[in-house]
Amino acid sequence: KSGVEKHAFSAEVGRLLDLVVHALYSEREIFLRELVANAADALDKRRFEALTTPSEALPDGASIRIVPDKEKRLLTISDVGAGMSHDELAQNLGTIARSGTRAFGEKLSAAKPEDRPSLIGQFGVGFYAAFMVADHVDVISRKAGEADAFQWSSDGKGSFEISPATREAAGTDIVLHMKEDAAEFLDAWRLKSIIRKWADHITWPIKLQDGEETSDANEGTALWRKSKSDITEEQYTEFYRHVAHQFDAPYATLHWSAEGATEFTALLFIPGARPFDFMESSRESKVNLHVKRMFITDEAGLLPAWLRFVKGVVDTEDLPLNVSREMLQATPVLTRIRKAVTKRVLNEIRHRATKPEDKEGFKNFWENFGPVLKEGIWEDAEYRQEIASLSLFRSTYSDDATTLDDYVARMKDGQEHIYFLTGDNVDSLVHSAQLEGFRARGIEVLLLSDQVDGFWPERLGSYKEKTLRAISQTHGDLDKFAAPTPEGEAASLEKLLPALKAALEGRVKDVKSTNRLVDSAVVITSEGGPDVMMQRLMRQSGQ
Ligand code: ADP
Ligand code: MG
Repeated sequence: KSGVEKHAFSAEVGRLLDLVVHALYSEREIFLRELVANAADALDKRRFEALTTPSEALPDGASIRIVPDKEKRLLTISDVGAGMSHDELAQNLGTIARSGTRAFGEKLSAAKPEDRPSLIGQFGVGFYAAFMVADHVDVISRKAGEADAFQWSSDGKGSFEISPATREAAGTDIVLHMKEDAAEFLDAWRLKSIIRKWADHITWPIKLQDGEETSDANEGTALWRKSKSDITEEQYTEFYRHVAHQFDAPYATLHWSAEGATEFTALLFIPGARPFDFMESSRESKVNLHVKRMFITDEAGLLPAWLRFVKGVVDTEDLPLNVSREMLQATPVLTRIRKAVTKRVLNEIRHRATKPEDKEGFKNFWENFGPVLKEGIWEDAEYRQEIASLSLFRSTYSDDATTLDDYVARMKDGQEHIYFLTGDNVDSLVHSAQLEGFRARGIEVLLLSDQVDGFWPERLGSYKEKTLRAISQTHGDLDKFAAPTPEGEAASLEKLLPALKAALEGRVKDVKSTNRLVDSAVVITSEGGPDVMMQRLMRQSGQ
């Protein structure tokens, strides 16, 4: 057939390709993780679509196949997933749709060369990682439900071609023409060890062709269905990195099964670091919903938006496999799961907030996700007080963060309000002239500098029956607290000064009050006479 079309990569893809290929030599093996993950995604997608379009159902024993061919130096990764149409090939493999990939490209080009290998680990670089090991890539794909197949081909340098192709059934083959120095990735043993390391938790079978034989390369069991005692910390961490697209270790791992009215198993993580694109990404919680181990959707809103930093999986037996989108919105099963999961996560955060042996860990967590959690004070009446009680704030009391409970415990006699000042950053807030009157009277003020801080104090209203009050709006609040004014001192000194003078009769000339002292109570001076040091020397020498 004719019909070869040539397309240019978008400028962004061109840049990204260049960086991925040149910056990442030491991390090349992750190309396989990315391609296997894409194959698994495509299988998930097809299974989900088949719920409403039964004619597109997956063939029995659907798997991901990896076939190395040393002689031809080809490595093929095949799936029977959803496949791609002509236009999807051009769109998905020629432009950058995901904001994450875009942000990655920007970060990577800004990074110093020596920092790039560690940066790379933090991002899923996706399909383009294939060009780390291949100098030419063919993608042969047929979309489920369509009769025509197409081939996408590129050497990763500026352009790609799309032409008609043949494929027996729906699915995708990624054919890598391996670079000369990437021959190690044609070795079955090497491939198996990479899959073990990166893809063991993929629940689709991964079949590896080794000569004449085909072997199972992954265990393929759902990690969360195993009992805790059978899971190592490394396995938890590896799974976390897979579901959260993170490269660090989790701050908290929550793994439990709920029994009773609604039964489910959850494996959730609080990341140890803030994802690089966290602030730009959507406000929806993306915890994965599985039904009887099968991935259904990450759009079930299993947690409220203010817990959207939590990643992981919830798996339930209490929904049918063919659950529809409408049903997901209406079913009481999910309402109950949402509530239980939210409570459990908050409990964990509370537990960690009050753990004296890991104050640093909680502080770090708070720096990463505190601003998001505080959104809950604003928007979630049910958990408002609870979130407020475990929040950390900067205040004029010290450079350390404080809780509201600690603030309340330090309140002055007669102080009725929790005072706060909002602004862009703590460094400038500290120097605000508005604080002087409060400082002078020893009244603590919270320094609030997150965006959400402009909203929640009014919604919270009060904490432990103390109303929150912006110091910019206090008129006269300070009047009832004695200021350390000279007049006040003078009044109490009226009696003290004559008494001191009488007691020191003959030894000092006079006793006077002064405003030059801040920390000390008394100083000896010599007004008009010789300097104090001089007087002492004169006495010692008998004069
Ligand atoms: P991501 O997987 O994060 O979206 P990738 O660069 O890995 O980014 O893949 C880009 C897109 O290409 C995917 O979102 C998907 O739409 C499509 N794609 C890649 N591989 C396959 C595949 N094996 N089957 C179907 N679609 C695929
Ligand atoms: Mg991908």
